[in-house]
Amino acid sequence: MASKVLVIAEFRGGKFKKGALECVAAASRLAPALGGGDVTALVIGGADAKAAAASLGKQGATRVLAACADWLAEFNGDAYARVAADVVRAEQPALVLVAATLDGKDVAPRVAARLDVGYAPDVTKLAVEGGKLAIARPLYAGKAYANVTLAGAPAVVSVRPNTFALLEAPGADAPVADVALAFGAGDLKSKVVAVEAAKTDKVDLTEAEVIVSGGRGLKGPEHFVLLEALAAELGATVGASRAVVDAGWRPHHDQVGQTGKTVSPNLYFAVGISGAIQHLAGMATSKCIVAVNKDKDAPIFKVADYGIVGDLFDVVPRMTDEVKKLKK
Ligand SMILES: Cc1cc2nc3c(=O)[nH]c(=O)nc-3n(C[C@H](O)[C@H](O)[C@H](O)COP(=O)(O)OP(=O)(O)OC[C@H]3O[C@@H](n4cnc5c(N)ncnc54)[C@H](O)[C@@H]3O)c2cc1C
Repeated sequence: MASKVLVIAEFRGGKFKKGALECVAAASRLAPALGGGDVTALVIGGADAKAAAASLGKQGATRVLAACADWLAEFNGDAYARVAADVVRAEQPALVLVAATLDGKDVAPRVAARLDVGYAPDVTKLAVEGGKLAIARPLYAGKAYANVTLAGAPAVVSVRPNTFALLEAPGADAPVADVALAFGAGDLKSKVVAVEAAKTDKVDLTEAEVIVSGGRGLKGPEHFVLLEALAAELGATVGASRAVVDAGWRPHHDQVGQTGKTVSPNLYFAVGISGAIQHLAGMATSKCIVAVNKDKDAPIFKVADYGIVGDLFDVVPRMTDEVKKLKK
């Protein structure tokens, strides 16, 4: 088995995605068990991505390959997958890791298809046991886990953000080498003309360590100030159930669940959320779940680590006050 791990490290909005850094850190922990090979990070993007590439050494990359050009500055699934597949063919790693972000979920299966190898999406367990990769991914809204064995080499795996910790003692910058691109902008089937990103300075839900989500129990959009106050004290991001998004109380990019975002924070508050299976699909792998609901039989309590049966309009302000006191 080749021993290298290659991480396709996503660079977006002037920095590496947290999930990408987690993949590099995970790769550096796995590499010794895979035979001690190096950890190579592949950066695809424009000039700003190249300028930041060396910093991946801090999370354990031993070398960085930069496939950077103006026409790669904006994400293009087709182009990125072609570049990545070419690099993987040349490098022959045992394992290819990608963070399971929106773009990562686009690129990773394309790379696997181009290489005709197996792909495990959105995994939450990745280890080396008995010299072999042990991979598990949640199914049925986290009610079951599938142990996955991949045929062929390399194994292509996308990792759910917030699954692995960053290195506690970051290292030094890594050497960067340019990738010679085998094709150009004119060879692409599609071109990204413009990207319209939602204007927000809050931490994206998929990267947030703490999330305070609200549901229909809040009774109206004006009451989300309660959650925003708690979130501000906790340094959290506010999320929402689909019921409130459909009602127009919150924007769609706040939605957690099967048709929203999949999150895995260290701490998830579900406030006035019943816990429908489609909501659980997006948050059941959170490390610690706190539910506030006035109905003691609400399904959310089945997945909650801590449950408070009570009226959220009474409970949430008291929680916020308690957090304030603790911080003092
Ligand atoms: C194909 C499909 C995809 C879907 N995708 C998603 C998805 O991505 N995300 C998602 O969230 N849903 C999704 N849904 C919808 C899902 O089935 C539920 O309808 C939705 O999650 C319910 O939202 P809710 O919990 O906010 O509302 P409700 O189910 O109405 O629950 C409100 C809860 O608030 C509690 N409550 C009320 N007042 C108070 C109070 N004063 N204090 C405390 N608690 C109170 C109630 O007891 C209740 O449990 C999907 C559905 C389908 C069919």
